[in-house]
Amino acid sequence: MARRPIGQGLRRAVQPVWRWLLGGVAIALVMLQVTGPVAAIQPTQQALTPPLLPIINGQTELLWYGQAAFRITTPSGKVILIDPWLQNPLNANGAEDLANLDRADLILITHGHNDHVGDAKAIAERTKAPLVSTFDLGRALAATGGYPGDLVDFNYQGNFGGEIPLLDGEVKVAFIPAVHSSAIATDGSPAAYAGNPGGFVISVKDGPRIYHTGDTDLFADMSYISQFGKIDWMLACIGGKFTMGPERAAEAVKLVNPSVVVPMHFGVFSLPGTPEQFAAALRSQGVAAQLRIMGVDEPVMI
Ligand SMILES: [Zn+2]
Repeated sequence: MARRPIGQGLRRAVQPVWRWLLGGVAIALVMLQVTGPVAAIQPTQQALTPPLLPIINGQTELLWYGQAAFRITTPSGKVILIDPWLQNPLNANGAEDLANLDRADLILITHGHNDHVGDAKAIAERTKAPLVSTFDLGRALAATGGYPGDLVDFNYQGNFGGEIPLLDGEVKVAFIPAVHSSAIATDGSPAAYAGNPGGFVISVKDGPRIYHTGDTDLFADMSYISQFGKIDWMLACIGGKFTMGPERAAEAVKLVNPSVVVPMHFGVFSLPGTPEQFAAALRSQGVAAQLRIMGVDEPVMI
């Protein structure tokens, strides 16, 4: 009988353990290489349904009033309004919301159309919030829209490609072009030139970076926006007819590549595009961003 080498039995016993350990290490290395370190911690998140929305630090509040009107409240409590048409047909509490709005620190307006200027004049008169807009739109609103001239200040104006720090550096607002039109039409008067239409990227310090498209069609240069900072939340018009509809908006989301997309500018003026069609378009076009359909007047911490 051949003599068994010393330790052979022990090696046989240990081999399966080593194979198992080495196999585990190999799988971990492959996971890291293919999908990055984040993939290793994702199974916990994936087990929860619905999927968790990416939260930046949970201290910035986003609220949708309907149409293109949003309110952002920063971690320090500053209030930024965008295209504040609070009394739009989707908002059953529009008149109350307007009456109760006792604070605004900035009013951002993307272009001169009524459904975007909305209640800005009344809010500005009450809160004394300065207007953030292009130079041309600010001039036009003061000259022909009845906007308080003392709240149209050069320090709060810019133009496309530019970015301005505001609220003592707590936010930065970048001016983004849009493919649309812009004019101010007061009742019974011919429309007045109001500069070129746009959107905004609002970067909150230690918080989210939010892209509000304004009214626009899809345009290829949207793909450059995130090269200057990842967009966390994209607020995208989807209604069609006067802006991009669901299919084109889904393509726009693909170009911007945000973490989350919120549909807006639908459900009024018989606009044909719906959030359901948008959801289907995002799915069929394989868009990675998470869809968040916000309820009117329902705040979300992001
Ligand atoms: Zn418009």
